[in-house]
This record gives sequence, C-alpha cells and structure tokens, in this order.
Amino acid sequence: MSFDARPGVHVARRRFGQNFLASAGIVSRIVAAIRPQAGENMVEIGPGLGALTKPLLEHLGHLHVIEIDRDLIARLRECHDPGCLAIHEGDALKFDFGALCTEEKASLRVVGNLPYNISTPLLFHLCDFMPRLRDGHFMLQKEVVARMVAVPDTAEYGRLSVMLQYRFQMERLFDVPPGAFRPAPKVTSSVVRMIPLPAGTYDVHDETRFSRIVAAAFAQRRKTLRNTLRDFLDETGLKALGLDPGLRGERLSVADFVAIANACQ
Ligand code: SAM
Repeated sequence: MSFDARPGVHVARRRFGQNFLASAGIVSRIVAAIRPQAGENMVEIGPGLGALTKPLLEHLGHLHVIEIDRDLIARLRECHDPGCLAIHEGDALKFDFGALCTEEKASLRVVGNLPYNISTPLLFHLCDFMPRLRDGHFMLQKEVVARMVAVPDTAEYGRLSVMLQYRFQMERLFDVPPGAFRPAPKVTSSVVRMIPLPAGTYDVHDETRFSRIVAAAFAQRRKTLRNTLRDFLDETGLKALGLDPGLRGERLSVADFVAIANACQ
C-alpha cells in the first residue's frame, strides 16, 4: 500500500517505515518535550517530510539529519539552507554519531520518529556512542516503549529493558494514536525520553559477558536461573549473591544482573 503524503510529491515507502506525522498538535507536544535551545548539537533520525525538522530548526538554528530515502533527501535539499540543515544521506544503523561531535560541541542530542522496523537495532547502535549522548527523544511503537521502561516481574520486562536501563534513565512521555500519521500505522505509538545514567551508576566489568548473561536469562523465560545461567554461575555462586537459583530471570533487577556478571570474573 502507498499513500500520497502530498499528492504528486512523495509516495510513502513502507520498506522505510514511512508514517509521516500529520498532527500539528502532536508535533508541538514532541517539540515541547525536547525543549530545543539555540546552538545545541542535535541530530534527527529520519526527517522524512520535515514535520519535526522545521520546528526544531526554528529553535536550534542548525540541525543534523540522517535520511535513507533519496527522494526525501532531494526535497529536503530544495527546502532548506545547507548552512542550517546538515543532511547526512544513508542508513542510521551504520552512522557514526560520534562524528557529529567536536571539541566545542562535545555532546549530542538525538531525536526521531523512528521507522518501526529498525527501532530496536538503532537503540542498540546508539549505545555504542554513550559517552557522546546527552539525551534521546524517540517515537516508537507503544509496545516497544513498554518493554524499554518495564520493571521486573512483568510480562514486558526482558532483554531490551535490562540492556537499556543499565545505561539510561527512561521516561515514557505520552501515547500518539494512529490517526496522527499519514498513512496511519496499525499500531499506537509512544514518545520516550532517554537520558544516560551518570558514569559509574552500574559498574559492569565486562559488557560482553553482561550482555550474554542477560540474553541467556531471557532466552527461555520459563526456565530458572540454575538452568539458564549454568554456563556462567553455579547455584553456590547465585546464593552467595543472595539470589534464589529457583527464580526466573524476569525477577532480577538490573543491579542483580550486574552483580551476576561481575561475580563471574
Ligand atoms: N520524521 C518524519 C515524521 O515524523 O513525519 C518521518 C518519520 S517516518 C516514521 C521514518 C523516517 O525514517 C522516514 O523518513 C524514512 O525514510 C526514514 N528512514 C527509514 N529507515 C531509515 C534508516 N535506516 N536510516 C535513516 N533514515 C531512515
């Protein structure tokens, strides 16, 4: 299915997750939540037809954007002064966000109404640039945001929750109904704010091991820690941390996962 976002101008491409914001009220709410200030270093992922780009630029004076669709890039070039809008053509999943930082502009704010098909890998990709990130504001599928902010012992709590919550403080801001987009997606969206936690909040000695442990604990949700974490820590080791080996992974806090990973050294 395709949809004329502006008849004769651009046909929305499903493969690029193109659902364009068409509600001025929602655009204002998102921009108000971001609170862009003149001179800040900000990048928008997937500017599309510019619903967020234009008001952000008005506040900031300069904005970076990353867009994969060449037709949209051509439109953006026609409408904006290159001195104000720095257009990076390509895949945000492969983009070096660190390259947008300089000595003067050492940290980066990231925003985006993200294409649903790449939202989770993109969040993980952004984690690679943690020291450079000041904050992130994203619109994502409501269910994905629910998993991002989920607390232990709930159905939504899982790998995504732990892997993001050990790096970011996250806040679900508000929901956006399908009718706010053209074409309308099938699902409701939510806007989420992510702010990196202060360095040292969680002291993970080996991130790769931590990530493997979290993945193992949630790979088979119904199995207990004594089974899922067998390759990492035995029952005695779990008990030494005050953890019951008969628990399931979904009962563990982020701090518990950190303690397990560090005990495996
Ligand atoms: N920001 C616009 C809005 O709110 O109306 C468009 C949002 S639309 C959901 C997602 C945008 O991301 C589209 O412009 C799409 O072309 C772009 N996009 C999709 N995949 C991308 C990728 N891998 N890298 C960069 N941009 C991408």
